[in-house]
Amino acid sequence: MFIDTHAHLTFPEFEPDLEQVIDRAKKAGVEKIINIGCDLKSCSGVLELSAKYGFMYSALGMHPYETKLVDETLMSKFFEQAQADKKQGKKIVAIGEIGLDYFKAQTSHEEQVRAFKLQLELAKNLDLPVIIHARDSEIDVLQILQDFKGLRFVFHCYTGNVDFAKQIWERGGMTSFTGISTYPKAQNVRDTIFAAPIDRIMIETDCPFLAPQAFRGQRNEPAFVVEVAKEIQKIKGLDMSTLEVQLQKNSEEFFGI
Ligand SMILES: [Zn+2]
Ligand SMILES: [Zn+2]
Repeated sequence: MFIDTHAHLTFPEFEPDLEQVIDRAKKAGVEKIINIGCDLKSCSGVLELSAKYGFMYSALGMHPYETKLVDETLMSKFFEQAQADKKQGKKIVAIGEIGLDYFKAQTSHEEQVRAFKLQLELAKNLDLPVIIHARDSEIDVLQILQDFKGLRFVFHCYTGNVDFAKQIWERGGMTSFTGISTYPKAQNVRDTIFAAPIDRIMIETDCPFLAPQAFRGQRNEPAFVVEVAKEIQKIKGLDMSTLEVQLQKNSEEFFGI
């Protein structure tokens, strides 16, 4: 089975045909999907989806674009939700996506760091892994994570270089790859995949964004995560069933699903 470890099925792009999207995912062998919260609306949306669909899971978090709303009150709310969820089947499997975005976010670095740390604290208290969004901020992110020893983390949509990825792996972190790995210009991503220990990688779509090369320009969806697996298979020279089992194991262990 394949697991799409990072999808945004709560986004309006999926409103018209979510059932078909789900059918196509299942036909493609995608048997688990983790939907990611990034603002208040999607954080309640992901919970609705995982309550409705047995094979979907949720991550709660506020994206660096949304830092203003991150305060103690919201953290208590997330904490209560996750505590209650633990008793009812444990569908909340991570805190994320959270992090620092120095490329696009409008808020100051200080403000982003404040919101990031609060959410890392939450993850620590809940003993949940974190899904990291880092853009032009990787060094600061890793520095901050130093203070949260023992916290499991994944750099989602990894597009950095091999040397930085090595630092992530050395500190016990995971790297997760999207359709970007299939883009002609993304040789650095393929180099990272080549260098990656096989137990430190996961696959994701980040849909509706970043459709793989074969579907470029279209809306991305969980079924297309198979394209990322195919790319990794090519780079690593593994047969698909071996890779599939390994990726499944990596994701299930990381998220505890
Ligand atoms: Zn992201
Ligand atoms: Zn995302």
